[in-house]
Amino acid sequence: MSRPSILTPFFASLRSFKGVGPQLNALLGKFFGAGETDGPIVSDLLMHMPERAIDRRKEAHVRNAEIGEISTLKLHVDSHIPAPRGRKSIPHRVLAHDETGEITLVFFGNNGGWVEKSLPVGEQRYVSGEVASFGGKKQIVHPDYVVPLDKFDTMPKVEPVYPLTHGLSAKILRRLISNVLNSSPQLPEWIGEQRAKEMNWPSFKQALTNIHTPTSPEMLNILGPARMRLAYDEYLAGQLTLQLIRSQMVVEKGIERALTGALTSKLIAALPFELTDGQKAAFDEIRGDLTTGDRMSRLLQGDVGSGKTVVAMMAMAAAAETGAQSALMAPTELLATQHLNTLLPLCEAIGLKCILVTGKMPAAEKRTATEQISSGEADIVIGTHALFQSSITFADLALTVVDEQHRFGVHQRLALSQKGQKSDLLVMTATPIPRTLILTHFGDMAVSILAEKPAGRRPIDTAIIPATAYDRVIARLKARVAEGAQAYWVCPLVEESELVQLVSAQDRHAALKQIFGDKVGLIHGRMKSKEKQDVMGAFQNNELSILVATTVIEVGVDVPNATIMIIEHAERFGLSQLHQLRGRVGRGAKSSACLLIYKEPLGETASARLNTMKQTEDGFIIAEQDLALRGSGDVLGTRQSGMPGYRLAIPDVHQHLLEFAHEDAANILATNPGLTGDHGHALRVLLYLFRKDLAIPLIRAG
Ligand code: ADP
Ligand code: MG
Repeated sequence: MSRPSILTPFFASLRSFKGVGPQLNALLGKFFGAGETDGPIVSDLLMHMPERAIDRRKEAHVRNAEIGEISTLKLHVDSHIPAPRGRKSIPHRVLAHDETGEITLVFFGNNGGWVEKSLPVGEQRYVSGEVASFGGKKQIVHPDYVVPLDKFDTMPKVEPVYPLTHGLSAKILRRLISNVLNSSPQLPEWIGEQRAKEMNWPSFKQALTNIHTPTSPEMLNILGPARMRLAYDEYLAGQLTLQLIRSQMVVEKGIERALTGALTSKLIAALPFELTDGQKAAFDEIRGDLTTGDRMSRLLQGDVGSGKTVVAMMAMAAAAETGAQSALMAPTELLATQHLNTLLPLCEAIGLKCILVTGKMPAAEKRTATEQISSGEADIVIGTHALFQSSITFADLALTVVDEQHRFGVHQRLALSQKGQKSDLLVMTATPIPRTLILTHFGDMAVSILAEKPAGRRPIDTAIIPATAYDRVIARLKARVAEGAQAYWVCPLVEESELVQLVSAQDRHAALKQIFGDKVGLIHGRMKSKEKQDVMGAFQNNELSILVATTVIEVGVDVPNATIMIIEHAERFGLSQLHQLRGRVGRGAKSSACLLIYKEPLGETASARLNTMKQTEDGFIIAEQDLALRGSGDVLGTRQSGMPGYRLAIPDVHQHLLEFAHEDAANILATNPGLTGDHGHALRVLLYLFRKDLAIPLIRAG
């Protein structure tokens, strides 16, 4: 079944609307996070929620118009005082009054005669804008609206205010949204009768209308009926999807694996260290899952450096005891290669075959790998998303381990779990995820936590240093490198342009080469994967002392001998990103340092972020602090972390609706698992609308 045709207008490209040229289209695409090939569509706009509303309804008088408030005044125009020729800094002023007092309207810049025309002396006009005070007198600088008395109705009385991006004007966005709203049809009601009666919410279309073209500011209140309805809709679509995935996993029972313990005990003997108690406990839980018939769906959560990889290795070794295969998925080739390097010696020690599959592998190599996977010769397969390719079939996939889950969507996870019909799933993440979020994002998963770090770790000495002290940093680095230390030097993140970031990394690399010669390497995202691996290898083997890098090294990179992390323009990084980066050092028994170099001026939040970094190394505290600093609008940090985000629901505000949606989705799937009939059809529309197409094939037939 494909997308119901009633939804076609919601998926129309914005290019088909008047006034949307390639430039605006690209800007909107980027703003809404639309895929590069797809471009922004109507539903992106409709789901862009305003933050608040401007209220122009009340007709005020000059005397009682409050400073700093938007007011709509009915004014007599008295006279114009044009700006003197050639004096750009002096505005054109218009003196006006009503029966209660006088007010000045102020216009900067060249208005091309527009001001004279729209405010003729001796006539009356409605003027709406923010009232200010200047030299003890009231004024409005650049009123938002100036309209003749008979055109009062053309002025929007209540105007939604949207989050904007650089280059996007509020007026254009508002006009566009109201245009696309007009072109969108009424949809069938998917909210169940019981819930609908209880809540008495407006229809989907009506809710959008109330929010985008409100007649009172209360209409877009985040706890008002319109926003609540939309939040519920989004949750319901999400919950139906997760529960469909979940029910599929439960229906296909797992396999009771008879683990002998032969390989895991060999592995423990081969490890250069003792497992921590946390690692042992986590593995016990995993082993329990593997031996029962239920399919494992487990999250292994542990701060950076807590030693998740070895737990995964234990789990894969256990699976191999039954002759079955495991797959380990990493978010980048660099990490996949690193996992291979870490695990290969361990696998050899216990007699397992471990291979790598990446997208950029030469065809012949890939063919060999594919054969080894399908014949069952490969026990452990490490890879990137290339593992999803349909040409790869496993002989007997028992366990899938996904590293750094927040980079993967539910989509890929599903694709992979379909490779092994009854395979178990272990997801590793460094981001502490609260229970309720686990429920909404990943469905019902069991959780194992690595609470402590391996013994013998020393605290990382974190310093906040102004860029003006560059020479001091270099002197300190020289001394440490002379003692054999290795350092990462991370270059500024430039949001607008990967290219600019690259140039700054290249510049820094060149500058450091002047000082440290051939002991400086460079790694960045634009390099070929082989080049990256070579540089990484050289750093790992201590042939390089300093590795200048962009944020490609953010996740997972593990070089225990590296003990210095220098982050340039640290003020531009998010808190969790800084934490991830710092987590690259402090991995061995030697003491480590992290230098956060910032450039003035340092804003309040940036300063708070750096101080948090100095004060604590605890990932949980940092995550909490991160939420506090980012505010509730971006609770999940969806943009930063790539976690599946919400557009309509605000997680900490609409929590109770999530619970309703959870309950309702369960009831729906219990009573109408095939989503048949009118209500079933409406629910399918809902799933497509929220782009949960992947859930559709999971709906049980009939
Ligand atoms: P992360 O949880 O961030 O993925 P890793 O698995 O990369 O952490 O482990 C970080 C470092 O700690 C690695 O160098 C690893 O070899 C080491 N390590 C893991 N477990 C232990 C342990 N029990 N004792 C000592 N070192 C350990
Ligand atoms: Mg890791």
